[in-house]
Amino acid sequence: MQQIDLRSDTVTLPSPTMRRAMAEAQVGDDVYGEDPTVNHLEALTAEMLGKEAALFVPSGTMGNLIAQMVHCGRGEEVVVGDQAHTFRYEAGGSAAVGGIHPHTIRTAEDGTLPLDAVRDAVREDNVHYPRTRLLVLENTHNRTGGRVLSLAYLQAARALCDEVGIAFHCDGARLWNAAVALGCSPATIAAPFDTLSVCLSKGLAAPVGSLVVGSQPFIHESRRARKLLGGGMRQAGILAAAGLIALTEMQERLVEDHEHAQRLAEGLTASGYRVTHPIESNLVIFEQPDEGAAPAERSAVWREQGVLISPIGGRRFRAVTHYGIERQDVERVIEVIGQTA
Ligand SMILES: *Cc1c(COP(=O)(O)O)cnc(C)c1O
Repeated sequence: MQQIDLRSDTVTLPSPTMRRAMAEAQVGDDVYGEDPTVNHLEALTAEMLGKEAALFVPSGTMGNLIAQMVHCGRGEEVVVGDQAHTFRYEAGGSAAVGGIHPHTIRTAEDGTLPLDAVRDAVREDNVHYPRTRLLVLENTHNRTGGRVLSLAYLQAARALCDEVGIAFHCDGARLWNAAVALGCSPATIAAPFDTLSVCLSKGLAAPVGSLVVGSQPFIHESRRARKLLGGGMRQAGILAAAGLIALTEMQERLVEDHEHAQRLAEGLTASGYRVTHPIESNLVIFEQPDEGAAPAERSAVWREQGVLISPIGGRRFRAVTHYGIERQDVERVIEVIGQTA
């Protein structure tokens, strides 16, 4: 049976064009800076995001860790949302490896951090306190259902960072989805930030890879941090070749994923599920009715019928639309899930 896998957009498989590009990629030793395909990918990403430089890294987790380590010394503090990916799902790396103290504040339902709370979190100069160095925001925001942070909000957050003298980093694993949702260029969303980490391996469907993006000196330091973490790769052009296709051919089609998420949310609502948030990108978080089978049982029934969706705690599930999921797949999912409502 054909499986319709909506567990994540990380399950996307490389396109035939990516496979060909990977096979034919020109490569060299990237730790020596001699892989022309990696160099091309880094230059193109920096240009697309309107920053000076970029660094290819194996994962978004490493990208965020490198950025935090370059911005913050040991014992210094990052202000971060309690629902942020960097706080919840990156194995505590910033603390474990970077010695960075996370100062969490409550994430609002739209994925923003209230700016008065951010301001309160920033420490004054006092020997008792760690020094606050960095604010991290996430766009789109995963845990709140792919919510898109508005440009006005990002600009206000930038102004606050300037006022209190801290740096501003974006976990932009799905920045491309945010750009499509807002109808603006990725550079417009990147502009308020000092640095970003962006993923090629989510909706853009590359098999591996993320980039850290920022100023020339910041990327120089990031290259050292990448080596320290064991992320210096050799003939990585094989991977970067797929990344170039991801950037140039896979951004526009994200519109389809967002339409599919809208349709899925409508269908689920019509069958008695509650979608917990407005659909702004490719994530649909929904809650089952009080009665009936438990989430784990339901997802097992769906799986038998070829539909993979993960329970995420409580009565909730998360479905993610992505490359390889077509309109008829969405209709099939609605049918299968509707039967157990
Ligand atoms: C997936 C993801 C990451 C990290 O990506 P990996 O490549 O899986 O390490 C970071 N932030 C967010 C919001 C993500 O969804």
